[in-house]
Amino acid sequence: MDDQITALRARIDALNLELLERLSARAQVAEEIGRLQTAQGRSHYDPVREQAMLDALVAANHGPFSDATVKSLLKQVFQASMQLEEEQDKVQYLTSRRHHRADTVVWVGDVPIGGDHPAVLVAGPCAIESREQVEATAAHVASRGVRLFRGGAYKPRTDPYSFQGLGEEGLRLGRAACDAHGLKFVAELMDAADLPVFERSVDVIQIGARNMQNFRLLKAVGRSKLPVLLKRGLSATIEEWVMAAEYLLHEGNPNVILCERGIRTFERFTRNTLDVSAVALAKLETHLPVLVDVTHSGGRRDLLVPLTKAALAVGADGIMLEVHPNPAVALSDQKQQVDFEGFDAYLDATLFPETLSPGRTELYTER
Ligand code: PEP
Ligand code: MN
Repeated sequence: MDDQITALRARIDALNLELLERLSARAQVAEEIGRLQTAQGRSHYDPVREQAMLDALVAANHGPFSDATVKSLLKQVFQASMQLEEEQDKVQYLTSRRHHRADTVVWVGDVPIGGDHPAVLVAGPCAIESREQVEATAAHVASRGVRLFRGGAYKPRTDPYSFQGLGEEGLRLGRAACDAHGLKFVAELMDAADLPVFERSVDVIQIGARNMQNFRLLKAVGRSKLPVLLKRGLSATIEEWVMAAEYLLHEGNPNVILCERGIRTFERFTRNTLDVSAVALAKLETHLPVLVDVTHSGGRRDLLVPLTKAALAVGADGIMLEVHPNPAVALSDQKQQVDFEGFDAYLDATLFPETLSPGRTELYTER
């Protein structure tokens, strides 16, 4: 008796495999049909065709399964095939962690951003104003171990009569100061026409909040080899921000760093509202490094330390901060930049980054 059951079970096993093989072959044909339907813009679901298939199967059914059982079994197969067809229609986004599990590490020269590397600090003035100002700031932040320097040469200003930046001369001054102090230079590009001069002058191209959805600019920068720091738009959803990054990756530039810089809300005590959930979500949904600009987020010096702690606690890969030799006379963002003393106090208060970045064991700064 037992021998008989064993032998019959062996037949069942073989039939199972045969069934699987036939089901897989069927699924492949369904996928092929799905591709043709998608190419023709046709829907995958065709109830008339489904009914005809079921009718043919019931007509051919000689038991032992009842017609109803045959129908219900095959309906499941049809449904699974349909899911396959729908699945292959889905775009595979290059920014998505679904298809790219590992963290992307963006290297700015020899400075890594993202992955398990220690949090970075990008420090420097809002705008490059003069040789003396940029030189003094670069010297100070470099002396404190900072490796990435920021400074705007083309400033996106709300008021057209306010300081617009020194333009190409600003890029030259920023480059010279960075070279003198071993710093990498981050500056904002506003116009694709300036890309050649940026490619000669900077180490990271910043796309500002106001240009996050300037798709022509994104496409141009996507064709560059330089790393890109993509700020979140003033009122951009997380999806819009990630899609903007998708443009850069789609054009062939994989070196994209996201930067949350606060969003516009009803709150007036802060300049913007730092969206910490966006930082955590961007880290979960994408594989790209995420920085937080604590200066523009809160727009208040007294928030720099707590916002830095919050940003690092939710997994930010680094912080951006504005530093100016004398903020009271700065040509932009006077109220929120810190002076050198303030910068030193900030470093001491945050113990940046060694105590605030759990899991990050190496020291980024040598202080
Ligand atoms: C800046 O970082 O200089 C700047 C203008 O920031 P945002 O684009 O985030 O406003
Ligand atoms: Mn600024």
